[in-house]
Amino acid sequence: MHKLSIAEQRQCLQRGDFSALELTQHYLARLETGGALNAFITTTPELAISQAKRVDAARINPGRAPDTTPLGGIPIAHKDIFCTEGIRTSAGSRMLDNFIAPYNATVVDKLNDAGAITLGKTNMDEFAMGSSNENSYYGAVKNPWDPARVPGGSSGGSAAAVAARLCAASTGTDTGGSIRQPAAFCGITGIKPTYGRVSRWGMIAYASSLDQGGPLARSAEDAALMLSVMAGYDPRDSTSIDTAVPDYRGALNNSIKGLKIGLCSQYMENIDIATERSLFEAVKVFESLGAIISDVELSNTRHAIPAYYVIAPAECSANLSRYDGVRFGYRCEAPADLKDLYKRSRTEAFGKEVKQRILVGSFALSAGYYDAYYRKAQQVRRLIKQGFIAAFQQVDVLLTPTTPGPAFKLGEKTNDPIAMYLQDVYTIASNLAGIPALSFPSNPHGGLPTGLQLMGNYLDEATLLNVAHQFQQQTSWHKLSPAWEAP
Ligand code: GLN
Repeated sequence: MHKLSIAEQRQCLQRGDFSALELTQHYLARLETGGALNAFITTTPELAISQAKRVDAARINPGRAPDTTPLGGIPIAHKDIFCTEGIRTSAGSRMLDNFIAPYNATVVDKLNDAGAITLGKTNMDEFAMGSSNENSYYGAVKNPWDPARVPGGSSGGSAAAVAARLCAASTGTDTGGSIRQPAAFCGITGIKPTYGRVSRWGMIAYASSLDQGGPLARSAEDAALMLSVMAGYDPRDSTSIDTAVPDYRGALNNSIKGLKIGLCSQYMENIDIATERSLFEAVKVFESLGAIISDVELSNTRHAIPAYYVIAPAECSANLSRYDGVRFGYRCEAPADLKDLYKRSRTEAFGKEVKQRILVGSFALSAGYYDAYYRKAQQVRRLIKQGFIAAFQQVDVLLTPTTPGPAFKLGEKTNDPIAMYLQDVYTIASNLAGIPALSFPSNPHGGLPTGLQLMGNYLDEATLLNVAHQFQQQTSWHKLSPAWEAP
């Protein structure tokens, strides 16, 4: 059952080949054998079973219509950054290890309303800061393609769980690549929508002007099904865009003949040979489908990482000031006074990377340094955005690698923050500009997946999903599963 795509599972459920409860129990059994990957922080079997029974009841009760909810009976998992009512929502941090969310994120409500089954909450880098999932209070996640390697981050648990077929799809968040980089490392498809397309209500904030939720799934078609449910205006999120959500699935089969695809030399510096080869093989596939390939300049790209590592820590230092040991989360033992309470609660409950970023961000925002760092970074951000606006006057989408190379070994980059930050060299610019971007699997090398990225114009997720789906009709990389999956 876990080998089927979401669309196939829906068909089987509607035909009665198996029930939502059977499908859910099948995945719950897989979760137990998949424990070694450490992809989940919390599993929610009781919730999953009650949701599955509800879906089945809607189908078989006499006089009631068959379940027609778009994801009725499909078992999914949520990154542990989305608030889930009555369930621990930790953001991968000791700070929130005891935090039971009092309400659901909008994304969770929408997926529940669509009939999806919640199997649990997935592991992640603490407060979504990281590119390897090694910054989690709950320990590193292992890549199902090679357990000695990282799954990417920060949505590493969500990506590993989908790749290992522990759930049909999952939710993730992407502030600087955290959906796309783990999707690439784990051989799956993930999309970061336009900033404001998916509600951030109930999604724990890291860097609010960059954070965006989106799905991780096995194919562009599955991602389209998930995004159709997740996207849409939410009056509770002031940055939510009030515009209708198109029929993503309906657009998947559009022809891409005549579509203009841009390649950009700035996105090919420092890539390994295997990734470069897979990029040019993909170009051949797109050409055979009638797409027109041309070169595009994005000269400010190399400034994206420095700008991001000022803006994101600055926003994180403000957002994380709410964790003070008073209202929720971790509180130190026997504080001597209020100052001691703040200081020790934060010292004891935040991990090293989070502390580092709070310090960098506070410094960048402090009087006397604001103009030199934060304002400058925002000016660079504007230039990056203008570069994309100019590029999308020439082409419809941009095709780049998602990462410079495949998944690296656990521990390989933990003592070298710059090498770790460079993992995001191709993904960060689209967050700074707010444009949508998608990662899809290309041909693996040495047994490890590689990922390619499509970036598109504002609100044009439909074209990205369409182009990736057309590629997946010609290739079968997205159908490969890791050896781990065999049992
Ligand atoms: N790896 C980047 C960081 O550490 C991006 C993380 C993200 O997208 N949440 O900030």
